[in-house]
Amino acid sequence: MTTEQKTGGQILPITRWGAPVMHARTRPVTDFDESLSALVDDMFATMYAAEGVGLAATQVGLDLAVFVFDCPDDDHVRHRGVVCNPVVELPEGKERHLETIDEGCLSLPGAYIELARPDHAVCRGQDVEGRPVEVTGTGLLARCLQHETDHLNGTVFGDRLSGRARKKLYALHEDLSDTYPEDWPVSPRDQRYDDEDEED
Ligand code: ZN
Repeated sequence: MTTEQKTGGQILPITRWGAPVMHARTRPVTDFDESLSALVDDMFATMYAAEGVGLAATQVGLDLAVFVFDCPDDDHVRHRGVVCNPVVELPEGKERHLETIDEGCLSLPGAYIELARPDHAVCRGQDVEGRPVEVTGTGLLARCLQHETDHLNGTVFGDRLSGRARKKLYALHEDLSDTYPEDWPVSPRDQRYDDEDEED
């Protein structure tokens, strides 16, 4: 079963860091109509094709406050959904625990670097039909909810890094960027480079 059969959506090219839409606040979703539902299907298809756990509308070139996710939490339970107009609530004081693990972004493919984030997040917004939705995330899901909501506020995770770490992240991406076609994941990644990597 292909992803396209599963979502009914169309795979779209993923927008990269540096495109203006990636670095500006998005418009709120106000029309929960068929075109939103079609966009969400396309976003799921694109996320699965890119083997990601979350995707924001800005990553398919749209300044609209909606993201999709299919991501495991700390107990390896997968959560799949859509959040429009997301607002993230993070623990404060004694409840706040930072977790430092590698983070990556489909809009800077191939590069991962450590980033500390709270290990628990609650994300509130609306689903694709405009009903209130609340997603509680631990582990990778907590990170995903923060990362995707950041996107819709015009923030990429590189903005949360030190200058030095950001430089390293770009260098990692640069090493692999040739393996990602411009319209990736519409055209698949060039896997030949993986073999070369193994020989190194
Ligand atoms: Zn991202």
